[in-house]
Amino acid sequence: MESTASGNNYIQKLISESLDDVPFHSQVEWIERLVSTNLPVHLAVHKISDSKEMPIEYVQSHRHSHPELNIILGDDQMLTFKVQLGENTYVVESPSSIWIPSGMEHSAVATSGSGYFICLILKDSATSTYESLTVPP
Ligand SMILES: [Zn+2]
Repeated sequence: MESTASGNNYIQKLISESLDDVPFHSQVEWIERLVSTNLPVHLAVHKISDSKEMPIEYVQSHRHSHPELNIILGDDQMLTFKVQLGENTYVVESPSSIWIPSGMEHSAVATSGSGYFICLILKDSATSTYESLTVPP
């Protein structure tokens, strides 16, 4: 039998939230951030529109106590990110995945193109994801 998804704990609408709500992040006009707030992992999807204002450093380097998986998917255009992992900085082109072990200092900012940036933080509870953020040394 077919049911509506509302009222089912396994299916959730993504809701729009500002990047300003995330420590070490700032909202920019060309990103729409969609999150799922009640999963056992943290899920955020950034819909990135091409902008002449790129690149802006809208994410500061940070680290947290859970591993993170990023997926970069371009739409019609290639989507390019500047990704910092520890001491190193990389130019990363779509399609790509990035594994960030727990405790590793990191940041990722879109530098050109359009598409989707998917962020999964593999925490084991539904508590606020960014409580565990610490300021980099
Ligand atoms: Zn992070």
